[in-house]
Amino acid sequence: MNNKTKKVLITGSSRGIGLATALELKKSGYEIIGTATSKKGIDVLSKKGISGIILNLNSDKSIDTFLKKITDQYTDISILINNAGITKDNIVLKMKDDDWMDVINILLNGTFKISKGVLKLMLKKRWGRIVNITSASAAIGNKGQSNYAAAKSGIEAFSRTLAKEVGSRGITVNCVSPGYVETDMTNSLTELQKKIIVKQIPLNRIGEAKEVAKLISFIVSDKGSYITGQTIHINGGLHI
Ligand code: NDP
Repeated sequence: MNNKTKKVLITGSSRGIGLATALELKKSGYEIIGTATSKKGIDVLSKKGISGIILNLNSDKSIDTFLKKITDQYTDISILINNAGITKDNIVLKMKDDDWMDVINILLNGTFKISKGVLKLMLKKRWGRIVNITSASAAIGNKGQSNYAAAKSGIEAFSRTLAKEVGSRGITVNCVSPGYVETDMTNSLTELQKKIIVKQIPLNRIGEAKEVAKLISFIVSDKGSYITGQTIHINGGLHI
């Protein structure tokens, strides 16, 4: 299969790492289907020549409608990037139940539900690639991110398990775990916070979304054909 015949679904591709990945893979010839939570995000995608579908991973109704559209219109998806994510940070003693649940629901439950829906399409072809975006917070912990770190660790354990379940069908499942990357998610950090973070990074800078996109592009390409069940870290050496 050459890239032109491969369709890629990327959740949360209206901004940040998801958008950078969509553009990188589009450049390599793949057909991209992206998602956003609103029409504004879909418009961003369509301006870049990418088909977009609304998806809110915090709503079962939205997930059901989305998966129906996918199974009706895009039966030949062979690559899935579970990228959409949010943070709702607070220390455990102050964390609201709703903030815990929203993050677990969008990240962990969302990854399970979309993977399950799209896997059915991949199984028919006996070929597929799933890449789940996790975070350095899962490996090292990060004060104020217990919900986020728990969800991302859960995704990594889920991915190792799924890799064992579907490997014999020609489907690989891996995680890409970024450290700090310059996107809207990290834009709320103050300049002082960024300086403190950069001091902990051997490469002395925050990462760029396109650097993460290039790693994802490698994993889904033929070059990544023997990699499965792995979490690949991309963090400038934040933890070694
Ligand atoms: P951004 O905040 O830049 O983009 C988030 C994307 O997720 C947007 O496309 C957004 O859509 C979508 N999204 C938000 N909420 C939902 C929802 N309820 N349902 C479906 N989609 C939703 O994030 P990043 O690019 O920084 O992050 C991408 C991934 O990388 C995430 O999983 C994040 O946890 C992970 N990551 C990021 C790091 C960083 O430093 N930036 C570090 C480590 C991991 P919309 O535009 O419609 O809001």
